[in-house]
Amino acid sequence: MTEQPRQRTIGVTSQEKTNLEAAKKSYEQHIGEKTDWGNFLGIVAIAGLATLGVYKLVKSRQSNPVTTCAVCGKQFSIAYTGNLPPVVYVKCPGCGEELVVDMTEE
Ligand SMILES: [Zn+2]
Repeated sequence: MTEQPRQRTIGVTSQEKTNLEAAKKSYEQHIGEKTDWGNFLGIVAIAGLATLGVYKLVKSRQSNPVTTCAVCGKQFSIAYTGNLPPVVYVKCPGCGEELVVDMTEE
């Protein structure tokens, strides 16, 4: 009997890897600091899910992190310790809808 692997590795072609590394680099330039792959891929994943419409995308600002739920219209502030990342995943305290908040200033 072979032991089941705990984690599956995802096959990434060298072209995809190059694209990901370029995206990570431009993200680091955007936020002005180095980030690790886990953090970066987490942000890419939630941003991607919002793009696909899995989560509702709402806007807010880092200088005033208040947003309005796209479903029930409840306004709430985003509690976050430390620096806010450009994309935040939150749950509406009113209706429980999962929301992705774009924190980039316009
Ligand atoms: Zn809501």
